[in-house]
Amino acid sequence: MAGTTAPIIFILEPFGGSLRRHNASLPSLFWDDAAVTRGDGIFETLLVRRGRVCNEERHARRFEASARELGLPAPDLDYWRGATREALAAWVAERGEDAEGKCVWTYTHGRASTGYPSAWLTITEIGPEQREQREHGVRVLTLPRGFTVDEQAREWMATGAKTLNYAAAMSALRYARARGCDDVIYTHGAGEQARVLEGVTSTVIAVKKNGKMRTPTPGGTVLHGTTQAALFDAAQAAGWRCKAKDLTVADLLAAESVWLVSSVRLAARVTSLNGEKLPAPANEAEIRELIEKAVAGINPPRG
Ligand code: PLP
Repeated sequence: MAGTTAPIIFILEPFGGSLRRHNASLPSLFWDDAAVTRGDGIFETLLVRRGRVCNEERHARRFEASARELGLPAPDLDYWRGATREALAAWVAERGEDAEGKCVWTYTHGRASTGYPSAWLTITEIGPEQREQREHGVRVLTLPRGFTVDEQAREWMATGAKTLNYAAAMSALRYARARGCDDVIYTHGAGEQARVLEGVTSTVIAVKKNGKMRTPTPGGTVLHGTTQAALFDAAQAAGWRCKAKDLTVADLLAAESVWLVSSVRLAARVTSLNGEKLPAPANEAEIRELIEKAVAGINPPRG
């Protein structure tokens, strides 16, 4: 469990309605929930700062799209936002305005015996490992993802959804840790010409010379990252030239710096890739600040 104090848990009604604070020392899920038996559900993880969630609109839009892809009833986003406000009020009352946290929205196909979806949200502390990786970066191993998704498969596979199915991701992390690394970048193919896809729980950013930022084109098996989107908007406004395009492992090795970005860890600089050291760039502080400002300060207009 992240942190040492009890998480804040709220149980939601999937079609809107009442909201219930749940006692964290009691169980809340049934044995036949699709989340437990199949990983059949969706989630969003949002950073909590200064008593609010960051980058909320992008998360809400992806949550809605994920639900659509998995055939879940459309979530009532105003209800989810309201539930989030209540949980945040409890968080601030219990931990104070300055406590940084992690808010997770979860929505599943529910119990096999009732067919009624399940929905809940939590706010927990951020683990020491994530803080440490923010500060000191990550040693990364590239691993072939092992499958590709063609047009036909895309029609049914819900590859754009942020689903609960992370068993392969956890397996990849265990494999990397057993080899002295902290994180994994999935690739298509092997060797330096392999195409870069994404981190197991993050988006890859390559920072090049002359104010350029690149990220692998999202879609297919690459999740649309909310942090990357916020970063590119902020970086472009600050004069950077940002583009989503195919990248190879060789491109990462040649970049000025490489980052794994995601909602809670924010930005972890890749300090080595397959054992090859990637030295810190001169503009490390500038890039960190851009990411911090991008996610903590921006709520783009609803669209
Ligand atoms: N890609 C994958 C597979 C992820 O699991 C995540 C985050 O959990 C990301 C990318 C980064 O997404 P975000 O920036 O929205 O947190």
